[in-house]
Amino acid sequence: MYNALMASIKINRQHFYHNLNQIALQTGSVESIAIVLKDNAYGHGLKLIAKLASEFGVKHAVVSKTSEAREIDGLFETVLILCDSMVKEEKYTFAINSLDDIAHTQKGVNVELKVDTGMHRNGIHIDELDEALLRIKEQGLTLKGVMTHYRSADELSSELFWQQKRFDEVKKRVVKAGFASVRFHSHNSATILRVKSFTEDLVRVGIGAYGYNELPKAYDRVLLKPVLSLHVKRVASRHLKAGERVGYGGDFRASKPMLVSTYDLGYGDGWCRGQSHTPYITEDGFKILGRVSMDFITLESKEEEICVMRDAQKAAKQLGTISYEVTTALSTEIPRSIIEQK
Ligand SMILES: *Cc1c(COP(=O)(O)O)cnc(C)c1O
Repeated sequence: MYNALMASIKINRQHFYHNLNQIALQTGSVESIAIVLKDNAYGHGLKLIAKLASEFGVKHAVVSKTSEAREIDGLFETVLILCDSMVKEEKYTFAINSLDDIAHTQKGVNVELKVDTGMHRNGIHIDELDEALLRIKEQGLTLKGVMTHYRSADELSSELFWQQKRFDEVKKRVVKAGFASVRFHSHNSATILRVKSFTEDLVRVGIGAYGYNELPKAYDRVLLKPVLSLHVKRVASRHLKAGERVGYGGDFRASKPMLVSTYDLGYGDGWCRGQSHTPYITEDGFKILGRVSMDFITLESKEEEICVMRDAQKAAKQLGTISYEVTTALSTEIPRSIIEQK
């Protein structure tokens, strides 16, 4: 049978578990980890990562949409849905991003109230807290959690601390209002990797679980291991004479005779097109020659398979972006498989 050429993604189980272990050391237990699986698990593969996380013992998941929750809910005790219309479902909790959300939600739905403590993206204003709690009661919603999100936990500043202070105030007021069994959570990866003590119920960990510590080098940093690597297969090879050019616009010009090959990856697969005058160089030292096409790149190589990326943070530096964007952009069509490797 014809075997379609296709780039592939390998997911390193040991590296993923190493990262989850490091997070669990910070929180004190695996039970308090909620794995963030939005956007195809940051491009790593929703179902695959959900399965691995569940096998590791992770009990809670966070996604963006209900459709994502439906694919993985069998594996977790709770699934927090960050931004979708709310339905009544035992395992699901829905983030309330505004006062309007409360009015539009039917009785009995599980909700987690997001409070804006300074990021000014989603969540009710801190001054609206009492009103929100009252409306949640009146509307008959089940308040399962109260959360906030920090805007600069990964920056060398004291900003995180005033936001945390505000959230402490929120917690007191929620308890005082008579909500007893509410889970409180505010930490993302940068926060849990930064703080020395953890006293909340849950940490919402995304990028750290996938192997990237985004804290500046100045911090005493926990070593994490990239989970994803991206591999390409050779499509065709040719000899270039000195002076011949490669690809659209002929941006690359061979200064000497060379053997080049195309490989099955392009911006159609979610690989960043970048700039041909500052070409991407793989970790094994292969430079992308000329422009990235929709489905192909050209490298000076005749190897059958090449690893284009094994560290999205390093790749992101070259491409002028962040690890999150590099992995999340990778097409869902690229086959993903698990590898076992220390
Ligand atoms: C995406 C997201 C996270 C995870 O952030 P990381 O930096 O990847 O750990 C946590 N909380 C919320 C609300 C998010 O949207």
